[in-house]
Amino acid sequence: MHPREIGPRLAKITSCSVAWDKNTRDFYSRDASQYTLRPAAITFPKSEKEIIKILRFASRHKIPVTPRGGGTGLVGGALGRGIILDMRNFNKIRIGRNFIEAGAGVFKGEADKELTRHGRFLAPNPSIGPHCTIGGMVGTNASGSRSLKYGSTIDSLISVRIITSSGKAVNLPCNVSVAKKLFRVLDPRVLGKFPKVSKNSCGYRIDRVPTTSQVQKIIAGSEGTLGVVVSAKLKTIPIPRKMALVVASYRTLREALGEVPRILKVGPSALEVIDDNIVAHMGKEWPKGKVLLYIELDDDISKKRSKVRRITGTRNARFTTNAGKIRQWWSYRNTALSYSLRSISKDEVILPSIEDAAVPVHRLPLLLDLVEHLKSRYRMRVIIYGHAGNGNLHIRPILKKGQSAIMRQIAAEFFHGVISMGGTITGEHGDGLSRTGFVKLQYGGDTYSVFKHVKELFDPAYALNPDKIITRIR
Ligand SMILES: Cc1cc2nc3c(=O)[nH]c(=O)nc-3n(C[C@H](O)[C@H](O)[C@H](O)COP(=O)(O)OP(=O)(O)OC[C@H]3O[C@@H](n4cnc5c(N)ncnc54)[C@H](O)[C@@H]3O)c2cc1C
Repeated sequence: MHPREIGPRLAKITSCSVAWDKNTRDFYSRDASQYTLRPAAITFPKSEKEIIKILRFASRHKIPVTPRGGGTGLVGGALGRGIILDMRNFNKIRIGRNFIEAGAGVFKGEADKELTRHGRFLAPNPSIGPHCTIGGMVGTNASGSRSLKYGSTIDSLISVRIITSSGKAVNLPCNVSVAKKLFRVLDPRVLGKFPKVSKNSCGYRIDRVPTTSQVQKIIAGSEGTLGVVVSAKLKTIPIPRKMALVVASYRTLREALGEVPRILKVGPSALEVIDDNIVAHMGKEWPKGKVLLYIELDDDISKKRSKVRRITGTRNARFTTNAGKIRQWWSYRNTALSYSLRSISKDEVILPSIEDAAVPVHRLPLLLDLVEHLKSRYRMRVIIYGHAGNGNLHIRPILKKGQSAIMRQIAAEFFHGVISMGGTITGEHGDGLSRTGFVKLQYGGDTYSVFKHVKELFDPAYALNPDKIITRIR
């Protein structure tokens, strides 16, 4: 079918709103990444029945379908050439004693508002704040600063309801038949290929499905390639009564990161880093030329504070328990991406695929060595911030325009280095258009074959978000 026919034909067979005008297609051709892919049509289903109709139509005509949440993903995961399923109408929330059950289109901000009323919060807290959706968070296995103590989306995911590409609604882990089929293709021999890091959003997380009762976890980080998430039930946590934030400054990134293993022993709820490029944008009250560690404490505060003090010293650290100040200081950290983008000049470009590696924490100095080596070899600038406590750094290499030909080479060299350190090429943002080409490098051919079997079990025609995580031909 010609792409121009898809929208009008869909509008005839479904009762939901369908758009295929230029402006809407332009809008949906982008997310928060640097990639552009123009879809043929955008749909806004309001019920599972409508999703099923769209999926069956797409399967009949071999049209790819990509689910989309807030479009805040950083790897082009929500971009596709076929039909986009904008899940915003799946916006119901049910709060239980220690969980939230939310439609895929519920924005995190809405979930947070409801949960705050119940004195609870959701563990994964991406720095984008309220603008991402539950579906997108499950799709990428999102996490955030507090994942250090409370885990990523995969750790919170109690159950999930998906629609498969054939138009079948499946509840996981309840659906025993799907769980059994999945176990038939999971080969435990490949589990040794999984990096020993606290966060990983590369490939399918078969390492987190030890029993059929955990089978829902296969959907976390699956980037819309196994099924359309319609709702998810996620564990919630009581909001701590008191919190404190220590912001410690260092002369160099190496000095700051060198201190991370010792600070981790104190048991912070978050341990983040921002480099001097970002601090330069933070206003006069912050020390220019310094690197900052954010150390958040949410229990045993006075005891932990003195332990942190023994490590950081008093001269170079600021401490607050004032909720307003804590919010304000976090807002600087959470806008690190936008600060870093602001420092790029017109004749520079950012290399999109390297930005989210995670290594075992004691290997952070090795990761810095690797970055230093690439910096001098390819004469690039680098901005670094991220989740130091998880060994997960957002490294943003900036090249002179016209160097795009060597981008893949730099990425391959970087990823080889990260993998040899026992790390993952993506800790939280996922593979998408950025890193799908490197998933096989991460895990090797045997694991990649298992991933293919997983994909084919849920989506034999490769219709759901094709060429993300896994490709048919590799
Ligand atoms: C400034 C900034 C800061 C960020 N900070 C963090 C951070 O700290 N931690 C972090 O983890 N991420 C971070 N991100 C990335 C992004 O916010 C997360 O990946 C988020 O989870 C994406 O949610 P979304 O609703 O916007 O999803 P989208 O971008 O719309 O989609 C993301 C992926 O999920 C899939 N998907 C969406 N909805 C569904 C569904 N219903 N069913 C199946 N698949 C679906 C899509 O197909 C796509 O592959 C940041 C992004 C920005 C711009």
